Amino acid sequence: MEIYGVIGYPIKHSLSPAMHNAAFKHLNYDAIYLAFEVREEKLKNALIGAEALGIRGLNVTIPHKEKVINYFDQSKEVEEIGAANTVDFIRSKCYNTDVYGILKALENSGVKAKGLKILIVGAGGAARAAIYALKENRIYIINRTKERGIKLAKEFGCEFVDFENIRNYKFDLIINATPVGMKGFPDKIPIPDELLKNKPVIFDMVYNPVETKLLRIAKQRGCITVSGVDMLVFQGAKSFEIWTGLKPPVDIMKKTVLELLQSFLS
Ligand code: NAP
Repeated sequence: MEIYGVIGYPIKHSLSPAMHNAAFKHLNYDAIYLAFEVREEKLKNALIGAEALGIRGLNVTIPHKEKVINYFDQSKEVEEIGAANTVDFIRSKCYNTDVYGILKALENSGVKAKGLKILIVGAGGAARAAIYALKENRIYIINRTKERGIKLAKEFGCEFVDFENIRNYKFDLIINATPVGMKGFPDKIPIPDELLKNKPVIFDMVYNPVETKLLRIAKQRGCITVSGVDMLVFQGAKSFEIWTGLKPPVDIMKKTVLELLQSFLS
């Protein structure tokens, strides 16, 4: 039996084990996917141990996405973004499948991401993946911590905008790459309401709840919406394909994630 998993801290609430195990089961593939709680200072030991134990592949989440890249060959996206979410021990290589997840989620909602004016809210790892994925567009950044937003905008040749001035802009696509709206965080929207006036596409990376306040209001205003669930499923599907070489059963993976998220409500 092949062993896969996800490492992070905290990791208890990860949806990835259920999603990948459902895919293995559907394909009759002899493998298991587990969640491993790994504290920041234990990353190196965990990777050495995983390799020695014959674990084939890992997903990597907070707080390890940046540090993990020091231990493996890097795919082109990882070299540019500086963060990875997937390790393949067979090739000794790391990948960032969030990029694929973002592009496929947009495509799934019928959005052609070329030549658009895009606002990205946030300046963390997910925002970096979005900037890389959407580099053929004009990108603006807004972030709670101004200095971090300015630094990121400079690094990737984007424009930083202050919260005070954001109302004067019009965007074709707005992406929330912060946890605002996520379960356990304040139930608010991360941008001024006025920005929805000209009906931009709204992409919320938050996937719990499935319909965030931002997505709900955007739908009411007639905007096309893109869900964080799609991004989650497509990034997972890409990791699955890298590890197994098989076509991932995306519908099964999505159904499993939605059922699990639904069960959190009851
Ligand atoms: P990260 O590296 O920790 O960055 C978090 C970003 O959110 C930072 O810009 C931070 O601003 C901002 N932020 C945090 N709390 C905030 C608050 N209360 N108000 C306003 N801004 C706040 O995290 P990440 O990896 O980029 O992830 C960001 C979000 O995307 C998370 O919700 C994560 O679940 C989601 N995500 C979803 C997927 C998916 O597959 N759907 C994949 C990756 C990430 P400061 O700079 O001021 O701290």
